[in-house]
Amino acid sequence: MPDVFADLVGQDEAVVELRRAAAAAAAVLRAGAAALVPAGPASGNGSAADDAATGGLDPAAGMTHAWIFTGPPGSGRSVAARAFAAALQCVHGTGCGECPGCHTTMGGSHADVRLVVPEGLSIGVGEMRALVLRAASTPSGGRWQVVVIEDADRLTEAAGNALLKAIEEPPPRTVFLLCAPSTHPDDISVTIRSRCRVVPLRQPPAAAVAEVLVRRDGIAPDVAQWAAAAAQGHVGRARRLARDPEARKRREAVLAVPRRLTGVGAAFDAASALIEAAEAEAEASVTEADTTERAALETALGAGGTGRGAAGAIRGAAGQLKELEKRQKSRATRAQRDALDRALVDLAGFYRDALTMALRAPVAPVHTDTATLAGAGAQKWDAEGALRRLEAVLACRAAIEANVKPRIAVEAMMLALWKG
Ligand SMILES: [Zn+2]
Repeated sequence: MPDVFADLVGQDEAVVELRRAAAAAAAVLRAGAAALVPAGPASGNGSAADDAATGGLDPAAGMTHAWIFTGPPGSGRSVAARAFAAALQCVHGTGCGECPGCHTTMGGSHADVRLVVPEGLSIGVGEMRALVLRAASTPSGGRWQVVVIEDADRLTEAAGNALLKAIEEPPPRTVFLLCAPSTHPDDISVTIRSRCRVVPLRQPPAAAVAEVLVRRDGIAPDVAQWAAAAAQGHVGRARRLARDPEARKRREAVLAVPRRLTGVGAAFDAASALIEAAEAEAEASVTEADTTERAALETALGAGGTGRGAAGAIRGAAGQLKELEKRQKSRATRAQRDALDRALVDLAGFYRDALTMALRAPVAPVHTDTATLAGAGAQKWDAEGALRRLEAVLACRAAIEANVKPRIAVEAMMLALWKG
């Protein structure tokens, strides 16, 4: 097994910072120090300047109790958090990948690392309280109790408050690692943010993504390069494109849009096709999870038996099923938006290629397989026309983000793309 940070693609600065913190954490253990330096607002962004501010003398200066990993989708937030957890449990260094601490953490079986993935079922306050309580116990391995919360932006408000209490007065050997798209108040509360050190991840370069696809997933180099460029820095999407023929087919359908726009009717048809493709993709991605969750909940409710708790359980059952359906519906909506957004990003890539060709900019195309078509567009539209079309796609994304009905936004975009 290679070093635990090997799969964190194109994030060299973050890796340096995390290794330094893991080394500082190990020094704290060696010194038998009681507590770490809190991450207050003053040391909130984890920059080198902060370490300078603390003089770099305190071995705990590089390590804090609460962290937030932020970055665009596919940049590797949860990969970073898990690798850091392993580095903290590493008994040989800062994430050697070989020792039992690294192995069990990466494999998900380390007794002192808890991974919370609020997929669909968001983390409620009860679960969070139990988690915080367990996280306060002495680490059985003698190092750190680490709690990784993926999608911390999906905490309920009450759960967030329970977490905040723990972060405000952290037990000496407990570390919280949160993952969220950004530190915007919509994603993470300002008070939690103010207690955490932030590790911003960036969109990894295509070459780095291709390298990991070849090394880790055994994908042929030419396919990996194509997929990494086409996925525009999204590691998971690059892997899907390289491996899943259905994902490739959906992408090809999206990139066929520009040549299908021959009139008003065709523009509306293209809009319908794009929306329906996104719906189909979203449905495929959530149906299985929905069925599994519902079966699990029904089993749990049905297992109530005839004991004293049974009457209460039955009363609560209808409410719980309703709550589950509500969450599944919101997840389906989110999956649709995500699928549509991926399609729009692909389409934007095509017009971006046309624009860079019209400008004769010395950059590689995003979509090598439609480069000829983009070149033809560049000749026909010039830079200005290509830019207007690129802007129409980006405006559509912004409109959907601002809650304009997707069909209306996509129809307006298709008309704009056709008219130029
Ligand atoms: Zn190790």
